[in-house]
Amino acid sequence: MLPISEPYPWQQKQWMQLNRLISQDKLPHALVLCGPRHLGKEQFGYALAQRLLCDNQQGQVACGVCKQCSLFISQNHPDVLRIVPEEEGKAIRIDRIRQLSEFTEKTAQQSGWKIVIISPADAMNINAANALLKTLEEPARKTLLILVCHQLSRLSATVRSRCQKVVFPVPAPAEVHAWLSSKIADSDSSEAELLQYAEGRPLLALEFLQTDLLEIRRTFDKMLDELASGQLSAIVAAQKCQSLDTLMAIDWLYSRLALELKTKEMHPGTYRYLDRLIQIKRRLQAGGNPNKSLLWEELMLDWQHLLSLAPPRRAG
Ligand SMILES: [Zn+2]
Repeated sequence: MLPISEPYPWQQKQWMQLNRLISQDKLPHALVLCGPRHLGKEQFGYALAQRLLCDNQQGQVACGVCKQCSLFISQNHPDVLRIVPEEEGKAIRIDRIRQLSEFTEKTAQQSGWKIVIISPADAMNINAANALLKTLEEPARKTLLILVCHQLSRLSATVRSRCQKVVFPVPAPAEVHAWLSSKIADSDSSEAELLQYAEGRPLLALEFLQTDLLEIRRTFDKMLDELASGQLSAIVAAQKCQSLDTLMAIDWLYSRLALELKTKEMHPGTYRYLDRLIQIKRRLQAGGNPNKSLLWEELMLDWQHLLSLAPPRRAG
C-alpha cells in the first residue's frame, strides 16, 4: 500500500487527538491503531510517521516535498521500518521482531524520529509478541512504534497494555460521503449500495467499486433471493457458493441475514443460524479447513428453510 501524506476525511478526530499530543510533547512511545479492517488505519499510521519526520509541516500534515518526505514517499527512509507478514494472512514471526530491536537500538540516521509500523500487529505469533515486549518496556528516545490492529482481542494483553489505544470506529455515511461520491462518478452503483455491502467501511466500498466484487456480490444476493422463493435448489446454490472465498461468503451471508432481521419478522431459528456463522468464521480464521460442499449444502438448506418461513416484509 502506498503511503499517503494526510489522514482520510473520516479520521480527523484521531488525527487531531494525536496532533494535540505531539504539540504537548506527550506522544507515547507506542500506539495501537485499532478498529475493523478497511478503514485506512495503516495509511493513517504512515501519514503520522511522515508528519513526524517532515522538516517543514504544513499545518498539521507533512509537506510532501522536503528531503524527509521524499525519502518517505519513495519508501527509502532509513528511519522507518515496516513490519508485515511474509505472506498476506500469515503470522509475523520472531525474526522480524528481532530486526525491530536492532533498528530501535541504532541512532536515527536523519537525526529525527525513528518509526516502526507493524501491520497487522494481531498477526504476530506468541514468540514475536513476547520479543516485542522488551522493546516496549525499554523505550528508546524519539522512537515510535505504531501497531495497526484489526482485532484487538487477538493481540497479547501484555503488549496491548503497553500501548496507547487510538480507536477507529466505522464512520457515519456523512463522514464518507464527499470522498466516496467523488470515486463513484460513472459507476452504476450508489453510495448506499456500496456502503451496505461494505458494512460502512469506505476502503472496502472502494474495493467493491474497483473490482468485480460488486457484480459477484449482487449475483450472490440474487441467488439467496431465488433460494428463498424456491426458484433455486439448495444443492445448486451450494455448488455456486463453493467457488467463492469461504470466509468472505460467510461474512456476506451474515450481513445479509442481519439486514433481513432489520426489515422482517424472522423465524426464531435465525439467531442460531447467525451463531453458527460466527462459529464457522472463527474456525476458518483459526486455520480450519471444512468440507466445503457439506458446509454450503447445510447452510443453503437452512437458509431456504429460515427465509421461506419468514413472514413477508413489513410495510413501510
Ligand atoms: Zn516534508
